[in-house]
Order: sequence, then structure tokens, then C-alpha cells
Amino acid sequence: MSETLTPMMQQYQLLRRDLPPETLLLFRLGDFYELFFQDALEAAPILNVALTKRGETPMCGVPYHAARGYLEKLLLAGKRVALCEQVGEVQSGKLVQREISRILSPGTLEDVGLQEGENNFTAAIFPMARSKQSGATQESCSYGLAYIDVSTGAFFVTVLPHQEQLLDELAMVAPAELLAPRSWESSLATIKGRWPRLEFLEETLFDLSGSAELLCSHFKVQSLDGFGCDDLQEGVVAAAALLRYLRGDLRRDLSHLVSFKPYRHHDTLLIDTATQSHLELVASRNAPAMTLLASLHRTKTPMGSRLLRDWILHPLGKITLIEARQEVIALFLDQPLLLKELREAFAGIRDVERALSRLSQNSGNARDLAVLGSSLGIVPAMRELLEKITSSSPLEAPLLTSLILRLHDLKELRTTLECALVEEPPAITKEGGMIRGGFDPMLDELRAASREGRDWIATLQEREIQRTGIKSLKVRFNAVFGYFIEVTKSNLAQVPADYHRKQTTANGERFITPALKEMEGKILGAQERSSALEYQIFQQLRGMVLEQISPIQEIAQAAGTLDLLASLAETARLFDYCRPHLEGGRRFFVKEGRHPVLDQMMREKSFVPNDTDLDAATQRMAIITGPNMAGKSTYLKQVALLTIMAQMGSYVPAKEMQLGLVDRLFTRVGANDDLSRGQSTFMVEMNETANILHHATERSLILLDEIGRGTATFDGLSLAWSVAEYLHDVTQARTIFATHYHELPDLARTRSGVINLNIAVREYHDEILFLHKIVAGAADRSYGIQVARLAGVPPMVIERAKEILTNLERAELNADGRPQLALHQLPLRRRRSRITQQEEGPTLFDRLEK
Ligand code: ADP
Ligand code: MG
Repeated sequence: MSETLTPMMQQYQLLRRDLPPETLLLFRLGDFYELFFQDALEAAPILNVALTKRGETPMCGVPYHAARGYLEKLLLAGKRVALCEQVGEVQSGKLVQREISRILSPGTLEDVGLQEGENNFTAAIFPMARSKQSGATQESCSYGLAYIDVSTGAFFVTVLPHQEQLLDELAMVAPAELLAPRSWESSLATIKGRWPRLEFLEETLFDLSGSAELLCSHFKVQSLDGFGCDDLQEGVVAAAALLRYLRGDLRRDLSHLVSFKPYRHHDTLLIDTATQSHLELVASRNAPAMTLLASLHRTKTPMGSRLLRDWILHPLGKITLIEARQEVIALFLDQPLLLKELREAFAGIRDVERALSRLSQNSGNARDLAVLGSSLGIVPAMRELLEKITSSSPLEAPLLTSLILRLHDLKELRTTLECALVEEPPAITKEGGMIRGGFDPMLDELRAASREGRDWIATLQEREIQRTGIKSLKVRFNAVFGYFIEVTKSNLAQVPADYHRKQTTANGERFITPALKEMEGKILGAQERSSALEYQIFQQLRGMVLEQISPIQEIAQAAGTLDLLASLAETARLFDYCRPHLEGGRRFFVKEGRHPVLDQMMREKSFVPNDTDLDAATQRMAIITGPNMAGKSTYLKQVALLTIMAQMGSYVPAKEMQLGLVDRLFTRVGANDDLSRGQSTFMVEMNETANILHHATERSLILLDEIGRGTATFDGLSLAWSVAEYLHDVTQARTIFATHYHELPDLARTRSGVINLNIAVREYHDEILFLHKIVAGAADRSYGIQVARLAGVPPMVIERAKEILTNLERAELNADGRPQLALHQLPLRRRRSRITQQEEGPTLFDRLEK
């Protein structure tokens, strides 16, 4: 094929060569972007366009002016896209010059598909064998992970000790693009299974020796000491790989990445993937409003709202850090009126991070400058308010003080932007209309010239009517001819000599005069020059902004943090939360705790608060029994959510809470089918149970809901029992175990750290009333039959179930060791008649009860 390539296809192949692998090349051909070869085959179905042929070459294309929508489709499908533009002059018979203008990828979306409250991350993994001898097996590896949101400048680096934790972390980060070194393709197969977008790239991106240097030169520092990441070597390699990929492969300007945030898994409360989704922290299977995120979401700025998500998914593991946040919330709550004012001020702060990012990548416009101008404009007032809050309260909050210090007053920049930009500038930068009058004398002069010209023309019609006596004479403008004078047919005789004919129309003729022509030239020239000058001013303003990237980002981050803390204070105020007390031990004490989401949703019917009391010694495991619908699952989730909220530094919906710091939170819910993974319920359940047994420590909090349900009663019970024993004896973690197995509470007889709880129900004439109240002791019965009745199971079935239950409870097994389900069965017809007669004499059930 190559010998017969046309010059254009040769050009195509040449451009193609320098692209990162698996990048679709959109090749500009006149008014279309065309895709060729394999690219065309891949893209046509995604774009939903026809696949055609140019000779033997498959191709497809999309119109240039509608490209945006098509690009979005490709990016959302996870493709990388290079845009190739015609840059030279188009001359017939000559090959026009072309250049790659931009490379877009799912992780580097600009506007398309970006959610304000969510980050869009590109991530890289770098696995490293822990010791030289052990070689590269999964077991002996740790995993560096780095991720960058190009649209905001957020940049994180960490190391995960196991692949499972890497998977958990990826579930939180949810990267749009994920990269790893090619040599690890087979060892990372599990990750690839979960993250099909994982791409294996050249080893050279992941260069162990040059990585720290690369980061140093990017951040213009001598060493990385200031970032405190000596122990995160693998993470640093992943971070450097990302920089190389984004800068080299995608040709991105990353000057807005001015620092990165290293973190360690042992500094945070770890939440595994199953727990994250089960607790509906940031996404819900039911309704979006049912998440913890939604119930805490009272932030006013996009930065605050992105940060909230991060805090929920990465609660803290250090008491001092948690207390620092609590202190700020306490201080805000101490000054409710000023808090209100402060929150109103935050409403004026817009997406500074994304505006800054667009400007630094040269895709920004005057609107981005206006976003910065108006947001920076609010900062001084905000700072003053915050200082007032600190000085009018006796409370202290060093974190608040340090955040205030980061609200820099960029006076010169802020006032310049304010004076320079009009209220609502246009999105296009090359057509003027961005800059305020009075900002630049030259611009004012050009504008005056063109205004005067237009005034002269506006009065021309009147003057010409006077001069010629043609009452119907009109001065008009169109894009093709510019300004002209229109005279109808009947008046053509009166046309003066200095009129030059331009065009004949159906009704008359169009003329120009030398004076009009000259004025038109002045107007258009002035306009053109003023647009060009405005663009130049725009570029200068942009340059001023880029010189201050660091302080602007600090302001954005500080404002986001303050906004979030203020919104947590607001939630605490609205719903009467308390400040939890964090401590070193293993206590878990909650007085009148409420489920944060249901509590907010059930304001009218009011949620029933419940206590929790666990400790390391005499009650580290609580077994909860109670009928279905009593509130067991709700209670477990409540305990988990309170833990997360407390460790993210928030106040909690309770009267009182004492929490011995938790290192990992595990929840396990039975009967939660994961069909998407193609495994049976029971298998998933056991996988997750194994994960808990392997990884929980004595500092963990374990919440098990109906374990062992997916299999036959006896082996399910046996498993539940032995899991409970193991957790009590070996792991010794604080554990709450909700179960429908009535035998399980017997564990308390043999294990000193086990207590029994149940959820109270009131029985009334064979009906039950759910009180949702946790009380001491095991439930005496499961009330399953009453619940079935509530659910509308037919009376006949209910009655029969009662018979069987009685048989079971009396003499559970027959001589063969089988449950005696069939004992005392009445003939079907008699049962039916008895049920229809109702309440007539003692029923079989009553007789058996005696
Ligand atoms: P279980 O797990 O015991 O079957 P759930 O926890 O699913 O029960 O609770 C069933 C329903 O009871 C919940 O959907 C909720 O509406 C209600 N509920 C649970 N706990 C409470 C409570 N403490 N206060 C008020 N309503 C509750
Ligand atoms: Mg339940």
C-alpha cells in the first residue's frame, strides 16, 4: 500500500507517527475532520456515521463546525483524539500544510462532560517489588498511585501496600484514564478486569531514577523534601509518569500544577469498595438524594463541593487533624450570624480552579478572566469577615488562621481585571467586546473613530434626502457590499453625479459615493484594529494571571476548604449535631445517634434515635437480632456513617459521641447480588468476608449484616458462627453483627466480649408494630410470619407457616434428623374451611400452643 500513497496520505502517516499509541487522528480536510484506516473502523460506530472508502482506504468523517458533539462521543467512549488542522494557505494543486493542534483524552476534558462537583482524574500506577529477591509477584508488591485533574490542577500521590487496596482506592478516585507500565500487563490483569480502560504504556514513562528530578524541575525546587514524600517512592514514579504522559504525549501545558499532595493509606480511614458502595457514600442505587454526599452538600463553591467528595471518601486517621477541622466548625457555630454572612459571600466565588486551568492551557477566554476577577474581588471582604469571626469568639482554631493567611489580596490583579473587563464578556476572544471603555486610551480612540463614523453614516440619509430631494432614499448596510445608498426606480433621474452605481435590484439601484466609501474604510479599519487591540489586552491580562498561578490556586483551595467547613457547620446547626470526641482507645459510644440521611429525609415522621456502646473488653461484639423491617440494616449503616462523619472532622447527628479512632471500616451485606461481576451472591459474600478476615485489625470497625444468608440454613449458620468467633477471638475488632439466626446470640454464653441486642417491636393481636429501638438482650422470636402477613401473603399460607413453625420449635428434628415439617398437617380442604370460618373455636395453632 505504501508505494501508492498520495502526498496527502504521506503527510497523514508522518503526523500519525508522533502520536501516542491508540490515538484516533482526526484529519482536517476542508470542512471535515476525516478518519482513515483502523481509526475509521473504530470510530464510525461510536460516532454513528457512515463508513466509506477512499480507494481501498476505509474512512469516515464529521463536519468541522459540528465537531464538538462528535468529539464528546469519542472521549466519553474512552478514546484519545488528536486534532490535525490545516495551517498553511490553501492553494489548488498544492498540498496544504497541516499540524496537530491538540490531543484530547478522557482525563483531560475541558468543558465537555465535566461535572462541577466532581474531579476528572488521569491516573498512573507504578508497581514495585518490595525486595529485590522476591521478584515481581502480586503478593510482594506495593503500588504507587498518582492522579491529576488537569481541569483543576489537583494532584495526588500515594502508595498502596496491596492490590486489593489499590482497587479500593481506584474505586474512590474513579479515574477517567488509567496508565501502567507495559511489563506489568499480566500481573495487573485483575485491575484490568475491573478497570477496562487501564492502558499499558512504554516503560520509558515510568523511569525510576529520573522521576524525583523530573518533579523537582517541574515544581522548580531543589528537592522534594518540602513535600514530605520520602516514603512514597513508587508514587513519585507514577507522578512523574503522568507528567511525562500529559506533557509529552498529550502536549499539555501543566504550568498550573504548582504542587502535589502526598498521602498515606495509614493516615486515612480506609473504606473498601464494597463498603463505599453499600453505604451509598457518593452514589446511590436508589435515589441520588440518598447519599451521604447529598445530605452534607451545602457548599457554595465548586471547589468546596469537590472537596466534600474527597473528605467523605478519605476520612482522616489522625486525631489532631480531625480536631483541627472540628475547631473551625465550633468557631463558626459560635457566630451563627457571621456564618450566614460568610456563606452568602462564598456564593460569589466561582470555579476559579477550572478557569485558571483553561487560561494556562491557552483554551481560556475573557469569561475565565471575569470569573477570576469577580471571585478575587470578594476575597478581601471574605477575609475581613473571617477575621471578625475569629476575633469575636473566645474559641481558637489554628487551621482557620492558616486558611485566612492563604486568602491573598492580589490587589493589583484584582483591580486590573475589574477595571478591564465588561460585565459579561463574550466567549470569543478575537471579535472584541471584552474590554471596558476607559481602560485603554488607544482602544477608546479606535472605538470613538468607529462610533463617529457610524454617527456620520446615521445622519447621511437625512443629508442626502435634503440634497437630492428623493424622499425615499435609504442608506443601508450589508455584509457583501458594505454601506450603500438605495434609490427606487422612479427616482433614478434625480441621482447626483457623484453617485456610483454598484448594483441593480428589482426595485431600484444601489450607489456609493467616494465620501461614503472613505468613511466605511475608516469604520471597518477602526473596528478591525480595536478587535486586534482587545485581543492583545486579553493576552496581557492572561499573562498577569499566569504570573500569579500559585497564589490564586492557594486562594481557591483555601476558599474551598473554608466553604466546606462552613457548610458542615451549617448542617450541624440545621440538624442539631454534636461534636464527637476522638480518642486513642477502642471505645465506640454514641448517645441518641441518628442515620444522617434518613434523619434529614424523615423530618416529619421523625427518626428514632439509638445508642451504641462498644469497647475493647466486655462488649466488643454486639449481635443484633430482630424481625425483618425492624431497622437492623439502618442501624448498622448509621454506625458506619457516624464513624465516617466523625473522622472527616464533621459534627454528627447524635447527642454525644466518643470514638476510639478507627483504621478501617468494613461493612458486609448479605443478599446483595453482584450480577455485573458474574458471581453468585454467596460467592461475593464469601469473597468480601474473606477480605474482612484477612485485613481487619483490632482498630477496625466491622459491621456485618446477615452473613451466611446465601446458602442453606445450617452451613450458613455454621459459617456465621465461626466468623463471629474468629472476629471476637483473633481479630478483636469492634463488631456489630445483625443476623436472622436466632441461635447466634448463644455465642454470648461462651464469649466474654459478646453482648446481645435486639430491636424492639410491640406485638398486638398477632400484629407487630416496629419501634426501631435498640434494646438489650436477644430477640425471642423472628416475627417472620407477622412480617409476611403485613406484606400481604395470603392467609392460608400464613396459617400453614405457623403450623410448621410450631412443629419446628417443638421437636426440631425427627428420628432421621430431618425437620418434622409435615407433622400434624391438616387435610387441605379442612384448612381452607377453617380459614374462611375464622375465629370459630380454637384453631389447631391454639391447640398446639397449649
Ligand atoms: P431490617 O434490616 O431490620 O430488615 P431496615 O433497616 O431495612 O430493617 O429498616 C426498615 C425500614 O424501617 C427502613 O426503611 C426505615 O424506613 C425504617 N427505619 C429503620 N430504622 C428506623 C429508625 N431508627 N427510625 C425510624 N424508622 C426507621
Ligand atoms: Mg436488613
